[in-house]
Amino acid sequence: MSVNKKIYRNISLSLGKECFVFCPGCYNNKIIYHNPLNSPVVSADEIMAFVKKVKDQIDLSEITISGGDPLTYEHLSELVAKLKALGIFVKLDTLGTAFLADSQSVFPEVNLYKKVDFEQLAKNVGMIGIPLDGSTDEIIGKFRTGRKNLLDETKRILALTEKYHAATGINVVVNKFNLDDLENIFLIVAQFSNIQKIQFFQFCPTGCLAKAHRKTFEISEEDFLHRTDYLQQKYADHPIKIERKPCAGRGNNYLFINQFGIAYHTDIFEQSDKASTGNIINKKIYGNIKNEKEFANIFNNGLKRNDI
Ligand code: SF4
Repeated sequence: MSVNKKIYRNISLSLGKECFVFCPGCYNNKIIYHNPLNSPVVSADEIMAFVKKVKDQIDLSEITISGGDPLTYEHLSELVAKLKALGIFVKLDTLGTAFLADSQSVFPEVNLYKKVDFEQLAKNVGMIGIPLDGSTDEIIGKFRTGRKNLLDETKRILALTEKYHAATGINVVVNKFNLDDLENIFLIVAQFSNIQKIQFFQFCPTGCLAKAHRKTFEISEEDFLHRTDYLQQKYADHPIKIERKPCAGRGNNYLFINQFGIAYHTDIFEQSDKASTGNIINKKIYGNIKNEKEFANIFNNGLKRNDI
């Protein structure tokens, strides 16, 4: 018998194996590439088997697909179609680069990826999240490196989402370099009629890269709240909703599953570089999370160890 419980943790499928940019402040680079058992890339059906088990036990209605960049995951369209058929609202966080043309990844390897049919994919996606971290290439390039003309490219991707009336949100990593640029970013975004919300995320030093570059990007919570509060008040009646996510309270809210089916929660690498929670393919728990209570906490006690 299924026991529906409200999900506390968000599930983020970090399936993209590569990125079209390289961010020195990347929060999840280790999660993406971690594969201690040399597992194969997880298939859409393997993910669906896991999702169905979760959904049978807890109130799971939404999943985020991120990366790397999810457009580098070869089974993406099959997966989003199956998730939608199961009644899951899919949030797709992507740079969107490969929506425009065949595109080259820059991190961690250089590879060419085929253009992804936006119209086809968008039919099954509930919300597309596109990053925009500055109103000029210079400011954007402080956080996202390895691509020229990223501002123009992002505007062309937003125009594509607008053309197909795709529900779209903008994600801004607020850091030392764009703290004075937030309103300019908002005003660029406001030119597109399909943007539903803009989310300001305070830069958090989670993950080894972000930690290593902490001094470069970090801002105080006070500065973050002050600037975003100003925007929220000034544009309170604007159709684009302004949301803000300070670092505090964000930690450990996500369960990540990477391209090899390995499951983590956000602070896992604080404990050990080899740590993980489980693997959705071989259904084994390994790493340093052997404690039933810790594991159960991942799904807010909604799953037992053997269920994954
Ligand atoms: S876009 Fe940047 S932050 Fe996101 S996974 Fe790629 S390198 Fe990391």
